[in-house]
Amino acid sequence: MKVLVINSGSSSIKYQLIDMADESVMVSGLVERIGEEMGSLTSKTFPGTDKEVKTVLEQPIPTHGVGLEMSIDLICKGDNAVCTMNEIDVVGHRVVAGGEKFNVPVVITEDMWPDLTETERLAPLHNPANLGGARDATKLFPGVPQVLVFDTAFHQTMPPHAYMYALPYEYYEQDHVRRYGAHGTSHKYVAKECARLTGKPAEEMNLITIHMGNGASMSAVKNGLCVDTSMGLTPLEGLVMGTRSGDIDPAIHNYLAVNRGMDIAAIDNVLNKESGLKGLCGMNDMRDIHAAIEEGNERARLALEVQTYRTRKYIGSYMAVLGRVDAIVFTAGIGENDDIVRLKSLEGLEPFGMKIDPEINAVRSKQARKISAADSTVDIWVIPTNEELAIAREAKALVS
Ligand code: AMP
Repeated sequence: MKVLVINSGSSSIKYQLIDMADESVMVSGLVERIGEEMGSLTSKTFPGTDKEVKTVLEQPIPTHGVGLEMSIDLICKGDNAVCTMNEIDVVGHRVVAGGEKFNVPVVITEDMWPDLTETERLAPLHNPANLGGARDATKLFPGVPQVLVFDTAFHQTMPPHAYMYALPYEYYEQDHVRRYGAHGTSHKYVAKECARLTGKPAEEMNLITIHMGNGASMSAVKNGLCVDTSMGLTPLEGLVMGTRSGDIDPAIHNYLAVNRGMDIAAIDNVLNKESGLKGLCGMNDMRDIHAAIEEGNERARLALEVQTYRTRKYIGSYMAVLGRVDAIVFTAGIGENDDIVRLKSLEGLEPFGMKIDPEINAVRSKQARKISAADSTVDIWVIPTNEELAIAREAKALVS
């Protein structure tokens, strides 16, 4: 079975064609700057192998539909084609928000569209593009199942006391204001991988999963199910991120409006795009922050301290949520690559049985690895996430 995985963004499309026989990536591609004067399409067949062929096309790409058609032409026609269109059995789509209705992956049927369209207001920056990609693919692949995999689905097992905000109840009933979380596909994937690597059933494991990239979130996973997560109605809540503030006093909105004359849209923009690490030190890439710290930049040091302190506080709160923690899993750009952030995030937690082996932690690798010390009672893992493969597996499971 071959699954085409599509992640359609506001001006881009990322895709992978995965051969489920051995879960290998046959093609991976990126369409960028859709709708701009000049767009680009980069496609790699058999990426990372000695058969890798890279194709780059630079031309205007007016719509997502055109971008998708160009990508499929490269996959199925011409010199570097890897299969025919008929050989693509399923298309899997990443969708950021599923609301309460879409708590598991679904195969799209025509009657779902009103409910799917309804989810767009929960993620106005992402869902219209995600669902637009699904509409385009439906036209290009008539009769081929289109599976939607929702980032929020894994978090739908949270109990009401974890997902409700202490706000007037009608905001929940009428406007669906509650916590939904995000990055669920990644949290679920690394939780399952951790169980597999440990050799225990996922249903018997309590985990704290930490997805830390440019966006960052954490989940408390009890007996294989998510019971709490750090992102909320939107992906702004929780940890300190590249450009997002994470948790703040909600009264800051009013304070900024009064003191700086900012309106709600301006404040929302600052909290999403000008805050977090960038707000504190002007840089949002952890690699730059480490380099700046080396040169004595105190603001960069502060940004690292604030970010890792917040992470540590969340770990503490999820220990209270779970009672017993079997393992902590780090994943995504920072989680997989940054030994200093991992070390600082767990600093001082040794009395709770969480102890990193500094030498193993410092070794760079693309493989999943356990980094806890021999006498740590909690296992600490670095497990590379693979959201595309997770979507492909969900899509395959649903249509098989
Ligand atoms: P992601 O959103 O998962 O792609 O993660 C992107 C972020 O990961 C970047 O903004 C960097 O801050 C961080 N990152 C990527 N590679 C490294 C690295 N080798 N060391 C430290 N941080 C890294």
